[in-house]
Amino acid sequence: MNPVKIILLLVAIGVAWYGWQIWRKKKIAAEQAQARRDVRAIQDMVACPHCGVYLPAGSNHDCQEKTGQNTR
Ligand SMILES: [Zn+2]
Repeated sequence: MNPVKIILLLVAIGVAWYGWQIWRKKKIAAEQAQARRDVRAIQDMVACPHCGVYLPAGSNHDCQEKTGQNTR
């Protein structure tokens, strides 16, 4: 076998392996980012101190205004 062909074959294998590594890292990074988003979505759930309902932090929940006068 021609040595040049062997080198070209090794280069082709190296490029293919390198590309596969990049694709795999991107896939793992995307999965980890999605997992972090899921965890954060769970952690951002807070219990309303007035009615005890669990709701996403920052959501428009207006029971505080309704019950604030009764509880204080
Ligand atoms: Zn509430």
